[in-house]
Amino acid sequence: MLRKILFFSILPVILFSSCTQQTITNNNSKVLTVTILPQKYVVSQIAGDKFHINVLIPEEGNHETYEPTAQQMIETSKSAIYFKVGHLSVEESWLSKLAESNPKMKIYNTAEGFELIEGAPHVHGDHVHAGGIDPHTWLSVSGVRVQAGVILKALSEVDPENAAYYQSNHASFLASLDSLDTRIRKLISSSGVTSFMIYHPSLGYFARDYQLEQIAIEQDGKEPSPAAMKELTDLASDKKISAIFISSQFSKQSALTIADQINAKVVEFNPSSADWSNNMLQIARKLADSKSQK
Ligand SMILES: [Zn+2]
Repeated sequence: MLRKILFFSILPVILFSSCTQQTITNNNSKVLTVTILPQKYVVSQIAGDKFHINVLIPEEGNHETYEPTAQQMIETSKSAIYFKVGHLSVEESWLSKLAESNPKMKIYNTAEGFELIEGAPHVHGDHVHAGGIDPHTWLSVSGVRVQAGVILKALSEVDPENAAYYQSNHASFLASLDSLDTRIRKLISSSGVTSFMIYHPSLGYFARDYQLEQIAIEQDGKEPSPAAMKELTDLASDKKISAIFISSQFSKQSALTIADQINAKVVEFNPSSADWSNNMLQIARKLADSKSQK
């Protein structure tokens, strides 16, 4: 009975709020779009309430393979700004369409000015592939610091009236990044951890920031072969790996198998978490804890 009453009293609220949401999206000219939720966190720190932020990939969507729906493409076409992560292959496939349907939309690459990691070239049958650029710049404090600078510049260009407001938000955000970086640095250095394993290698910049070695299980976007599994297990054992990171958007089986064999901790995390700052701290904390428990 109670449940029924609750349902009927909540329903109008839900309907009402979804209506107002729709109105805001349709009538407010200041809409911007980002690719993933962690970018929404960063942009909102600087933009405050001056823009409505539209996000293309949902929290559980895979940032390597996601395809936006037709409705999402329509929503996005109303944006004044698009903030690319930069170097994510999915962005390339839909951005040209978006730019065509909305020629006034300004596109900014938030990785611009950041020192990127290029993958090692690898042999594929009889030919050699050039290494790709690691796109996971948002999973590092140093990457987000650069993103924040691009975002500040973009917002001030598109909306110069509020430039002082963006400038002040940007300064406070940089101060919060400094303290987050200090906390992570302390956690990592006091734990003595030097390397970790991960299924999909999304923590390359995080590893670079804190002098860690990231060892990927995934090979060319696929599960490793049995021979590669044997090599990875031996390597994990040699390096005394204490943590293996996995994410629900990617496969887990090979990671679980290696963790089981070398008695490492499996750490589940979401690379697309909306709560970016806390996510970064948790990654560091769980990595540090895994070492102290090993
Ligand atoms: Zn990725």
